[in-house]
Amino acid sequence: MPSPIAHASLALLATPALDRRATLRLWALVAAFLLLPDADIAVGLIASGDGFASHGSWSHSFLLAPIAGVAFALIVRRIADIPAKRAFFAGTALYASHVALDALTLGRGVGMLWPIVPERIESPIHIFSGVRHSEPGNIAAHLRTIAEESVFALWVALIALVLGALRKAPITRGEPAP
Ligand SMILES: [Zn+2]
Repeated sequence: MPSPIAHASLALLATPALDRRATLRLWALVAAFLLLPDADIAVGLIASGDGFASHGSWSHSFLLAPIAGVAFALIVRRIADIPAKRAFFAGTALYASHVALDALTLGRGVGMLWPIVPERIESPIHIFSGVRHSEPGNIAAHLRTIAEESVFALWVALIALVLGALRKAPITRGEPAP
């Protein structure tokens, strides 16, 4: 799984797209939904004492994304003036983006179609090495992960800057013919 660096960097795109004058609470909510599937670590810790035993399985399903979308829309209406339909699709996309990034990470795959397909499914394409939870002393691997994901985050930030500049650019239309 990638670290929160890669996941949370997508807030740079999502938050301004939802609300140009986004509040700190909206940024925090977007970041929370980008990281929400990893709440299975806390659930695993409480249920079995091992947070990583089933990490990346049931909670990392694309089929849970619309449910997250409903939850996001319900919460967001208390803190921002965003149409419910737009908030629903945003919340669904935030959750699904986490599943997609994890699926594109070298590892055990994710339960992307749980509960229809309970087994983990691994993508043939990997763009991240991921966090080695089982190798806390492997400093070289951790540094590589930080480097890879920082490059990804910078790339996302660049796209966010370009999109922001395009939105601010005045709309120029041709002068009407006399
Ligand atoms: Zn995850």
